[in-house]
Formats: sequence, structure tokens, C-alpha cells
Amino acid sequence: PKEFHPLDEKMRKSAELFDQAKKVIPGGVTANIKYIDPHPIVMEKAEGSKLYDVDQNEYIDYLLSYGALIHGHGHQSVYEAVMTQMQEAGTTIFGTPHKLETTMAEKLISLYPGMEMVRYTNSGLEATLLALRVAKAYTGKSKIAKFEGHYHGGYDQVLLSVNPDHEKAGETVKPNPVPESLGLPEYYQENTIILPFNDFPSTEKILRANSAQISAIIMEPVQGGFIPAEEEFMKSLRSLTEELGILLILDEVKTGFRLSLGGAQMVYGIEPDLTALGKVLGGGFPVGAIGGSKKIMEILAPDGGKDILTAGAENQHKHHALFHSGTYNGHPTVLAAGLATIELLENEDTMDDLFAKTKSLRDQLEELYSRYGISMQTIGLGSIFNIILAEGEIKNYRDMAKVDSSLRKEIDYELLKLGVYTKPLNRYSLSTAHTEKDIARTVEAHEQAIRTVQN
Ligand code: PLP
Repeated sequence: PKEFHPLDEKMRKSAELFDQAKKVIPGGVTANIKYIDPHPIVMEKAEGSKLYDVDQNEYIDYLLSYGALIHGHGHQSVYEAVMTQMQEAGTTIFGTPHKLETTMAEKLISLYPGMEMVRYTNSGLEATLLALRVAKAYTGKSKIAKFEGHYHGGYDQVLLSVNPDHEKAGETVKPNPVPESLGLPEYYQENTIILPFNDFPSTEKILRANSAQISAIIMEPVQGGFIPAEEEFMKSLRSLTEELGILLILDEVKTGFRLSLGGAQMVYGIEPDLTALGKVLGGGFPVGAIGGSKKIMEILAPDGGKDILTAGAENQHKHHALFHSGTYNGHPTVLAAGLATIELLENEDTMDDLFAKTKSLRDQLEELYSRYGISMQTIGLGSIFNIILAEGEIKNYRDMAKVDSSLRKEIDYELLKLGVYTKPLNRYSLSTAHTEKDIARTVEAHEQAIRTVQN
């Protein structure tokens, strides 16, 4: 008989299925992020706030597909919108323009201050990739700048300095571009400038020295979904980028529809030049979008937006439109799910209730850890937060890197056994489907986990 080492005795089938998967899928996972040591937990059903694994264990889900499922699993309205769309259309996809593309674009424009026009992609990754191409074409400059610790998808130019090795990361005030993967050509390190988040004087210094080459800064308004940009930092960065002719791309893949219906830009009161969306926008289906001012976005028109190119880009693009395509862009089934998702969020009190629930969980957890004498803080905005088992202000990647995460990891593994699901060390996302009872059970599970690890 085979020797399995399940994470817990009651997760035997997960361990067996992982063993089978490993033979045909590298590492047994279809995305590196899905891996958990010694094996991931294999799910087979879900409902509302709950996940059920192949061993019939129940979990309260705080991963929510990395925040995408703001109404939890299988919300009736989203489900019906998808079924109705497919039945009425008689197909899953037309491969031609259709009405929902415009309906959704109008909706996004009404909600996001920085948007006058929209294009769709199939993931958040593709959205940020497209935003960067648009910025380079529009400004005629070839480099980009990104912040240390910020994630924008898994492709070459932005897979730098997300979680860099300390020795290679360089000075805090002037970080090095550190590749996060094998197979990233040096070209991207040479053309990507890394900035220190929430440190305006250092950021300004780097930008002023390189502004002639930087097409755009891409940033997560809330790093990792839980470390917010300081208000003053965001405002100063907006003014500086305007002054220097650098486009500001707000990557709202996590914050879109989570911080507010109009994302972080609504909360901070700024208008980015370009916005990337994903996750919640697809109602649980793969999606992404970019939006921005008409002036910039028209460069995507098949005639190349001839009239709007800046002098620098003129020669480069005289004869070519900016290429953007995708078999599944603007997928009708996906947009139907997304529209239903957004409409639910527009119901009065929905967002406030979700925030109040999140706050209640955070408050109760903070009280609990303090009762057990463990240094702990929750940080985040809206319906996403993280648990940091340390004191001191967390403002950026370097602050996070100093935190000892060993106790948190032990607790997270206990929580998995107790039916509270998030990937160890990951942030918590809440949904409108989470109940007071879920929250009470989660707090109880934390107490039990703390007792176990303290013994
Ligand atoms: N940008 C941010 C801020 C994200 O959080 C993510 C995904 O986690 C992405 C981009 C990439 O999106 P996707 O996983 O849909 O490609």
C-alpha cells in the first residue's frame, strides 16, 4: 500500500488525488499559487460561504478564489443571469460584437472616475499587460516603473520584485529589479524601474531622474489587497506623474468593486490615466478590462487612433494600430455574470453590510489575540484584510518582510483542520454570503488554533 502523508487524517482523499495529479500536472497544481505543503486540499462542491472537499470536510471560505467571489459561491442571481444569457443567445459566444459589451462599458464608465472608454481581456494579467502596451504606445517611451511588493500578474515585465530575496533587493530607498522566476530575459530588468511604496521622497527622486524614459507607473492602490497607499502618497504621486508626463496605471484587479463600486480611485478621489480590472468583474468567470480617458484609449481603435499620438510616438506608429485581440474578449456569458454581480452590489446597504461584517471579524480577532497575549494587528480596507502577528506599522514590502510569519503559519494550518479556509499566510476576503454564524465560528476556530499551537 502507498504511503500518503495527508495534511490531516481526515484529508486522505485530497492527498491521494494530489498524488495522482502530480503524475500528469507539474507539481500537481495548475497555478503555482494553488500549492500547499504537503498537499493542497482538493475541493468538489461549494455553496455560499462554504467549500466542501473530496473527503466531505466543510470550510468557511476566506480565499473566495483570491477575492473574485464577492457574493460567495453559486449566488442565485449570478447563476440565473448566466443561464438566461446562454438560453436567450442560443450560444455561449458569438465571436462578433454584442450588446452586453456596450452595456458593461457604460456601467464601468458610470462607476470609475478615470474611465471614458473600456476594452475587455480574459484575466487581470492581460489587463495590466495591455495597459502597459497602451502607455508605451501613447507616450512613445519604453520603460515602466512598478512598486516593490506589488503583483500585476505572472508575465515577464511585472514579475520582478514582488517578493524579492532580501540579499538581492538592494537599498530600501532604491530597490533593485529582482526576477521572481526563471526564464525572464534581462531586457525586462533593464526596462523596469522599481520604486519604494509609500515613500514619496525616494519615489520622486527615482522618477525625476528617469522620467524621460518612463512611460507609466503601475501600482496596486492597496498592496497585496491589504497595505493601503497613504492618502498623501497617492495624491502626490498623481500630481508628480502629471508633471513628468508619466501615465499612472491603477491596477484595481483586487480593489475594484471591493473598496467601493468605483474602486480605490473613488475612495482616494484621484483619476488614474488607465485602470485595470479583473476578479469581481467576471462574477467568478475569467475576465479583465482596462479603462481610461478617451484621449488615451482611442489609440486602441483599429485605425490606430491616428490623431492622438504624441510627437514621440508618431513615427513609431504611423502605419500600425495598437494591436489588441483575443478570441474570448467581451465574452457574453462572462459579462452577464459580471453585470449581475455588480447589480447586486448596487443594492442599498450591500456594501456597508459587507464592510460591517468584515470589521466585526477584525475587531473580534484583535480582541481574541490580545486576550492570549499575542502581538497582532489586522490591516486592510473594505472587505479584505490580513492578519499580522507583529507590532509596528506595516507600510510596504520591507515592513512585511521583517515580520516573522512562523506562528501565523502554524495557526493557519490548524485553521484548515478546523474548517476555516484560506491559503496559509494569505489575506482574508469576505463575501456578502458570509453570515454572523460564520464569523462566530471563525473566531472560535482561531481560539482553538491558538490553544493548540501554544501547547
Ligand atoms: N493585478 C492584481 C492586483 C492582482 O491581484 C492579480 C491577481 O491576483 C492580477 C493583477 C492578475 O490577475 P489574474 O490572476 O486574473 O491574471
